[in-house]
Amino acid sequence: MLHTIKKIGVLTSGGDSPGMNAGIRSVVRTCAFHNIECIGIYRGYEGMIEGDFKSMNARSVKGIINKGGTILKSARSKEFRTVEGRKKAHEQLVKAGINAFVVIGGDGSFTGAMIFSQEYNMPVMGIPGTIDNDIFGTTHTLGYDTALNTVVDVIDKIRDTASSHNRLFFVEVMGRDVGHIALNVGVGAGAEEILIPEEDLGLDRLLESLRRSKQSGKSSSIVVVAEGDKIGKSVFELKDYVEEHMTEYEVRVSVLGHMQRGGSPSCFDRVLASRMGVKAVESLITGKTNCMVGLKNDVMALTPLDQAIKGQSKINLELLRVSDIMSI
Ligand code: ATP
Repeated sequence: MLHTIKKIGVLTSGGDSPGMNAGIRSVVRTCAFHNIECIGIYRGYEGMIEGDFKSMNARSVKGIINKGGTILKSARSKEFRTVEGRKKAHEQLVKAGINAFVVIGGDGSFTGAMIFSQEYNMPVMGIPGTIDNDIFGTTHTLGYDTALNTVVDVIDKIRDTASSHNRLFFVEVMGRDVGHIALNVGVGAGAEEILIPEEDLGLDRLLESLRRSKQSGKSSSIVVVAEGDKIGKSVFELKDYVEEHMTEYEVRVSVLGHMQRGGSPSCFDRVLASRMGVKAVESLITGKTNCMVGLKNDVMALTPLDQAIKGQSKINLELLRVSDIMSI
């Protein structure tokens, strides 16, 4: 059934990521361009349930394209996972006259949107906002490029210390299920080894590689470790293991944590967010629903939400080989 869209809600949900504000700005301004009312929904689905809404116009989103985080705030809502919670959310949307929404978030947020849309026949569109880049249907999620640049900057700084003291550093970066961040920053920052969830390097090969590094005259070594790396040891356990087996190494650990999620979005993320917001709103206007907007071959494309949720985001295996060659 084709809905006539008069009022579109926009919310950010799940973990924040740089570029979410640029995405909100784009949704709000595309609505203004097409003379559709736009309502900001605060604190994700939590705010939807409580009716925490604010009308937004083109000027409400001035000065935010360069800001990290999300002006609409984000939240994780347990209540929205329940039938009763979603019923309350629907009542609030109906009361406010909102008849479609755009959710900027990760696969959990998309699952919530899909279930809600099926229950209440409400058009929804997803914009992938997460630094992990772990969503199928787009080569880049919002915030991923910024996170790569943030992490590369930090590793460059860590290397200054590593080479001044002939040390080995294990640097833990985000990536519980996929190694996109680790793999790219590892190559970008010239790491000696990269440990990712997709590949089990094995402790023996790690030691062998570190020995080779030492013998080839390297004064410092950086090993980038994704949170969910296959070896399965924490960076602190890795440190202990290497120190035990290679007494010549003085090992340090750096866990980058939440700093990877913050900061001003890169130009790439600002442009991506602007494109995604336009595509999301214009797709809703033309009767599309239950999809996620994404970047494929540099073109904006829609992927059904169920596929975006279930599909696997794959790392670029060529990068693993490049990394092996570069760390000779
Ligand atoms: P991140 O990548 O940062 O984890 P996410 O969108 O995957 O982002 P989640 O916490 O998994 O983050 O989901 C965000 C919100 O989406 C949840 O707090 C909940 O309100 C809603 N949600 C997730 N899964 C479901 C579900 N199965 N049914 C209904 N709502 C859901």
